[in-house]
Amino acid sequence: MRVDIISIFPDYFAPLDLSLVGKAQSTGLLSVDVHDLRKWTSDVHRTVDDTPYGGGPGMVMRPEPWGQALDAIGPGTLVVPSPVGKPFTQADAYSLAQLDHLIFACGRYEGIDQRVIDDAAARMPVLEISLGDYVLFGGEVAVIVIMEAVTRLLPGVLGNASSLDEESHSAGLLEAPVYTKPASWRDRDVPDILRSGDHGRIARWRRTQSLLRTASRRPDMMASYPPDLLDKSDKAA
Ligand code: SAM
Repeated sequence: MRVDIISIFPDYFAPLDLSLVGKAQSTGLLSVDVHDLRKWTSDVHRTVDDTPYGGGPGMVMRPEPWGQALDAIGPGTLVVPSPVGKPFTQADAYSLAQLDHLIFACGRYEGIDQRVIDDAAARMPVLEISLGDYVLFGGEVAVIVIMEAVTRLLPGVLGNASSLDEESHSAGLLEAPVYTKPASWRDRDVPDILRSGDHGRIARWRRTQSLLRTASRRPDMMASYPPDLLDKSDKAA
């Protein structure tokens, strides 16, 4: 997968060279290029913002540098992190992981002039994606979050791809609690069943815990879980 990120703070993306996203880059599964938007400015101050038409507080990102940047880098699927975008989900991460070329446009200030998004949409798919119902200073952190979620879904990135199957949000449920050694810690014991070696009963326990957790913490998810995916033991749980 090829990824281009455009930002006025390219240094924000140093974490993408670490851990498994960094490894995906060094093994050639992912290539990430970070571009300084100011490269596409033409004035001595390398200006990227101006006052909003219609008045009001703050500054808006000017369209010219963005237009030139996207002309130079595109086409691809343009992802614009924005609090007015569609809330990001694991299903979105799976969709993005299918694509060959993602371009991320990181807004700052009061955001990017709307014409940049409208103009790009005439030439390439554009997705405005929100990380949640709150406002960040800029799109950089949102891009790092999206990149983590997408990269771990790329074939070959995770050593054991089956860990994706039952994790939270993959199959519409939250994952069951997890434990490791020691078996007893501060008078708290790992559930006996997980040490029983009985794989059938362990799978059943995990499924039940997953359902109970989802029902108590995310009733919204439980309500939209397809009833035909619930077996008799699930219903008893
Ligand atoms: N004036 C904008 C509004 O009220 O909708 C907020 C602009 S915000 C201060 C600057 C930039 O941060 C946005 O253009 C976007 O790139 C990013 N951003 C802020 N909150 C975000 C969120 N919840 N999800 C994704 N990106 C966000």
